[in-house]
Amino acid sequence: MVISVVNQKGGVAKTTTAINLAAGLAIEGYKVLLIDADPQSNTTQVFIHPEVELEPEKTLFNVLMKFASLPTVVRPTEQTNLAFVPSHIRLSSADLELAQALDNRSARLKRAVDEIEGNYDHIIIDNPPSLGLLTINSFVASDALIIPVSTAFFALTGLVQLQETIAMVKQTNLNPSLRILGVLCTFADYTNVSKDVEAQLRSFFGDLVFQTVIPRNVSLEEAHSRHTHIFNRAPRSGGALAYKALVQEVIKR
Ligand code: ADP
Ligand code: MG
Repeated sequence: MVISVVNQKGGVAKTTTAINLAAGLAIEGYKVLLIDADPQSNTTQVFIHPEVELEPEKTLFNVLMKFASLPTVVRPTEQTNLAFVPSHIRLSSADLELAQALDNRSARLKRAVDEIEGNYDHIIIDNPPSLGLLTINSFVASDALIIPVSTAFFALTGLVQLQETIAMVKQTNLNPSLRILGVLCTFADYTNVSKDVEAQLRSFFGDLVFQTVIPRNVSLEEAHSRHTHIFNRAPRSGGALAYKALVQEVIKR
């Protein structure tokens, strides 16, 4: 299954969810490819130390802009069963450049992913905080979406716009079978705001909201700065237990 982690809001735990879901599935024995489609390259910085200057030719940039094939930019990670595709800051111009392209500008990632989908059980795509052409490419390439929502602030207005974009992708036949796999409450704590937002999400989206809630947990942030995932950094932390439970829910959906 190809799963995109999307929300046009920044700081809602898209990257954290993409990394730890991918790692958790890999630990369960699935062959997983994690694709960083965000020009900010946060996922890439977790798996490649910042001192290493990445050439754009060795990243998703080359695939989306130059039609290079995806396998040429896939890299191994230290986690068994987990490979990843780095992003590059030059992808930040992709929205503009793709907008001028005449051929299949929304389906470039899908074309690339179709070529190697058979090699993996799951492909997880991390996305930029926007609804531009990069995210549209991910919508077209994906079977399903996970939408992390921070319960630290009220977020329902942005969600309407996100749903409209998903509906557009389906109606214009870019990807008629795209579905929401689940809405994920993140940054949960014991404040009233957090509880209110979770309750609002559950009444708005019903069973689409994952039972699993990701708590605010500093170990998740520490794992990033140690260039690894939570199961490696702090396997007994609240963050690890929550993402482990999420992995089980994702396998069942
Ligand atoms: P996004 O990709 O949506 O912008 P990130 O995954 O980068 O969001 O998360 C934003 C910041 O919050 C990062 O510094 C990350 O390490 C941190 N973070 C993410 N999830 C949690 C959490 N559950 N508890 C504490 N910090 C978190
Ligand atoms: Mg991110």
